[in-house]
Amino acid sequence: MKLKILKGTSEIGGCITEIVSNKGTRIIIDLGEDLPDDNVSKCENPNIDGLTIGDKKYDAVFITHSHGDHIGLINYVLDGIDVYVEPTSKIIYSLLSTFTHKKIRFKTKNMFFKKKIIINDDIIVTPYIVDHSSYNSSMLLIEADGKKVLHTGDFRNHGVKGKLFVPTLKEIGNVDIIVTEGTSLSRGNVKYKTEEDIVKEAKRVFYNYDQVFILQSSTNIDRIRGFYKAAKETDKNFIEDLFTSNITVSLKNDSIPNPKTFNDVYTWIPRRYLDKSFRFKKKYLFPFLKYSKQKSYVNNKYALMVKTSMIEDIKKLYNKNHITNACLVYSMWEGYKEKVEMKTFFEEVKKYRISDIIDIHTSGHADKETLGLLSFLKAKKIIPIHTIKKEELSNILDNVYLLDDNEILDV
Ligand SMILES: [Zn+2]
Ligand SMILES: [Zn+2]
Repeated sequence: MKLKILKGTSEIGGCITEIVSNKGTRIIIDLGEDLPDDNVSKCENPNIDGLTIGDKKYDAVFITHSHGDHIGLINYVLDGIDVYVEPTSKIIYSLLSTFTHKKIRFKTKNMFFKKKIIINDDIIVTPYIVDHSSYNSSMLLIEADGKKVLHTGDFRNHGVKGKLFVPTLKEIGNVDIIVTEGTSLSRGNVKYKTEEDIVKEAKRVFYNYDQVFILQSSTNIDRIRGFYKAAKETDKNFIEDLFTSNITVSLKNDSIPNPKTFNDVYTWIPRRYLDKSFRFKKKYLFPFLKYSKQKSYVNNKYALMVKTSMIEDIKKLYNKNHITNACLVYSMWEGYKEKVEMKTFFEEVKKYRISDIIDIHTSGHADKETLGLLSFLKAKKIIPIHTIKKEELSNILDNVYLLDDNEILDV
């Protein structure tokens, strides 16, 4: 079998990996877009011959999770090539596309955890659930020509599903090659806080304020659970913005705080959605009206999930005297603070009596200690991707093998 990283050996952004069996079956793992700079989308056709342009030369595409840097380019896959996505990741990505005006043109096949998918009686792919900041993320075990390759996707073990990590590695057993994410390689030697630490920290902060505005990713479900818990324990109503509510309801999991099955979770409908088409509103807004009318903020103690596009909504709350003792909790990667949009938002909220901006966050990626656990699998070669400091991995693991983009490795 041959392995090639088309993209991702020297960047944290769009990742694309190719595996070709001796018989010529070709698969792709992840087809991600580069992370946007200041909202300028980099979602262009990657022009991969036989995959996104020209005549079909690939047999299947597998997506590890719903983050744009792993799934963002699937619209470009040529007809006739099967795209496998875990069903809830597909729901999340479809909603994200709808709410961000991204055109959706993809047919996908369902990928379920631990269920083998066999391509051309030749390549076997088995997904394993893994802890990450995107709901139901997968690691993929690829078997062909008597060899085993583990592609980790993005992962960590300090989140809610972290305790599954070591048992999953044991279940996978020895492999020949590991392709691993290495995001933290450029980010110092810290051990990351757990999601439980985040809840404790949130409780301490929430306790000091009557209104807490939360800026976090709507697809980070574990974080939503954590902040809901902190809101309850500090006697606040929990309000999700419309996009988040669409996600939490669609996942149909009663352990995820959502306005449909939790009688203490509400929906905030940002003003800008009122201008949307009737078709959009019928499907994504009208069903949530009943959860928004309960004047959830009326006792002036609430935790509200916000987006940087919601400044008008914050102004409305301020004008109605619903902001009296408030803070903004920033729960995203530090680097996003450099975006113009974010800087403007921080400036704007100050006008509405929200002057305390408090960081409560932990990474979605494996810290160095966790990367070290990959040694259990006794791989002959460990290839770092999704990193800007791949050399650093040799300080943690033996058998590190560095590849450049488009370099072919004979497995
Ligand atoms: Zn990710
Ligand atoms: Zn990623």
